[in-house]
Amino acid sequence: MPAVVFKDFSYAYKGSTKALDSINLTIPKGSFTAVVGPSGAGKTTFCLAIAGVVPHYYGGSLAGQVIGDGQNTLDSSMCALSSRVGTVLEDYESQLVTMTVAEEVAFSLENAGLPRAEIAKRVEQVLALVGLRGLEQAEVATLSGGQKQRLIIAAVLATEPAILVLDEPASALDPEGADELYALLGNLNKQGITIIVVEHDLARIMPYAQQMVLLNQGKLVIADRPAQVLTHMWQHDIFSASIPPLWQLRLRLRQAGFELEEWLTDEEAMGELQKLISKKEVCRSA
Ligand code: ADP
Repeated sequence: MPAVVFKDFSYAYKGSTKALDSINLTIPKGSFTAVVGPSGAGKTTFCLAIAGVVPHYYGGSLAGQVIGDGQNTLDSSMCALSSRVGTVLEDYESQLVTMTVAEEVAFSLENAGLPRAEIAKRVEQVLALVGLRGLEQAEVATLSGGQKQRLIIAAVLATEPAILVLDEPASALDPEGADELYALLGNLNKQGITIIVVEHDLARIMPYAQQMVLLNQGKLVIADRPAQVLTHMWQHDIFSASIPPLWQLRLRLRQAGFELEEWLTDEEAMGELQKLISKKEVCRSA
């Protein structure tokens, strides 16, 4: 059973034109999917549709279906969906509701009526997982932006969702905080959680994403391996500027007849470029 299936799904907010238009897509269980595209493409709406917030909270009109963890989002309440699909919104600070770190994680578990011992166990486990152990009694207001972000993820993870959907989770973080966050998401994915993340910085997502979904004006342009999607973007002016600089270089070199191996990180890119330079030097000295 796939993690998420969009079947001919279209959606328009009240009084608006379609924010998503005839989306057909399968997101495999246990995969790491990056959702990319220009502003207004429908990326946030895509996340909200998986969480059922669209249409349950926003109303509006829709056609087709979204199936999350085997359940049609229309047949489930937002509350029931939230136990299977954990969502971290772009404005994640608005999701923080309590005073201390431990209370924040325990909050939704208490609401779900879990026994105290189980709550204590899960609080300890998820805080260790996100690197916030020792801060149980710290006031949420005293945490850094990165710590708050990880706390929200801990609170969402404590409910043991099968799918984690995050909308621009690194947007308020410094580069180090963003690296730590993506390392955490990578680890969660290795443990079997399906990760779906909206990210505008494609270089950051490359080392982790197995699938990249490119949206534009509510339509699905392409869903494929990240390298294939970048190659597609390269052929269309509206997308090409958001391709990471080192990938732009790779695609330019390819046009000039120099085929380099695909790379995921800047380090791998430098290795490939180094190989190319040494080859040229061998040619020159021969
Ligand atoms: P992205 O996340 O890619 O920037 P969004 O999903 O936020 O795109 O928006 C897709 C389209 O839906 C845009 O045209 C946007 O103006 C519109 N939209 C987003 N939220 C609302 C809303 N609450 N009411 C009406 N229109 C909205």
